[in-house]
Amino acid sequence: MAKNFSMYGLPEEVIFCTKCVMSNQRPQSVVEFKNSNNQKSGLNIDKNSCVCDACNYNETKKKINWEKRERELIELLEKYRKSSGYDCVVPGSGGKDSAFTAHVLKYKYGMNPLTVTWAPHMYTDIGWQNFDNWIKVGGFDNILFSPNGKVHRLLTKLAFKNLLHPFQPFIIGQKIIGPLIALKFNIPLIFYGENQAEYGNAVEENANPQMDSKFFSQKNNSEIILGGEKLSNILNKFNFKLNDFEPYIAPKINDLMEKKIEQRYLGYYLKWDPQECYYYAAKNTGFRPNTERTEGSYSKYSSIDDKIDPFHYFLTHIKFGLGRASYDAAQEIRNEKITRDEGINLVKKYDSEFPNKYFREFLEYIDINEKDFFSTLDSFRSPHLWKKDKDEWKLLQKIY
Ligand SMILES: [Zn+2]
Repeated sequence: MAKNFSMYGLPEEVIFCTKCVMSNQRPQSVVEFKNSNNQKSGLNIDKNSCVCDACNYNETKKKINWEKRERELIELLEKYRKSSGYDCVVPGSGGKDSAFTAHVLKYKYGMNPLTVTWAPHMYTDIGWQNFDNWIKVGGFDNILFSPNGKVHRLLTKLAFKNLLHPFQPFIIGQKIIGPLIALKFNIPLIFYGENQAEYGNAVEENANPQMDSKFFSQKNNSEIILGGEKLSNILNKFNFKLNDFEPYIAPKINDLMEKKIEQRYLGYYLKWDPQECYYYAAKNTGFRPNTERTEGSYSKYSSIDDKIDPFHYFLTHIKFGLGRASYDAAQEIRNEKITRDEGINLVKKYDSEFPNKYFREFLEYIDINEKDFFSTLDSFRSPHLWKKDKDEWKLLQKIY
């Protein structure tokens, strides 16, 4: 049987993990599911024994000697702790994970972190309250960096139009802000929270406590791509100067190396459990969950600070068949908060829900009309995932 072709190099055959609800369509990850006997998946793969990398990593996590890892952390911190001035940078929003990271580093391990925040596109009320509490109740110094709104909105629009990924400029900024501040203030250590291996990036990423430095590889400014377009093209097409894009141009790896700036993540040293981070942040930094569940999911406490967040996940549902409930449920199944069957039901109920609440604001923010929004969205539906039935788009492969 001829298969429908897939866009953006996604695997043509959709395979779901048998332990959680993730599929092999999740990008930026090791999408080769492994058989239970750890054979890399081949053509005649037994779908009934596929396990995703995040679930495999979860098993690895159980075998890690966490006491030994904590001793490694204490040794590392001994090396950097200062009695005056900042000794580490903690980038974050004041959400549960960064709130936890900054708080244990300062109040359990006696460090003096400078927290830095790359502002969301549009703060939600609860997001702003949690950020404010992080600083005032949690007790931290913080630099809130807000990029030039005209530039940021343009890049967000381009990223939506070119990649159906309006969150991309935020993600880039968020990656850059820590190293940028560390360089400016001469702070030699940057601490992040959990590692992406928790969510399905290469397991190997967690065998090393240092952050991947590929992102900071040397590039000429003319080769930099933002929002799916070359920076040189953006400068030709729009009325901006190179200087305007300063916050999106990553510091060079050589500069980081010269100043001996280390990037670490706490998830290597301490066993990461998002729900435990939530309880910790609620107790120590005044973190509050939302009063209502997030659109597209059932959860109330993760990624709630940006009005664009629900669109990010809704659009991953369009591109990869994986919406927010899929990501939330996969994580909670792994951490044994819910069963796989419960997870499947939640995905069925919420994954494809359209984020209505901030729709008008989102359209206004990226300056496009509703018609444009939906036609762009439809042009990103890969034929191996979606089929139009009369007037309705149907997802071909579902876990339920
Ligand atoms: Zn899995």
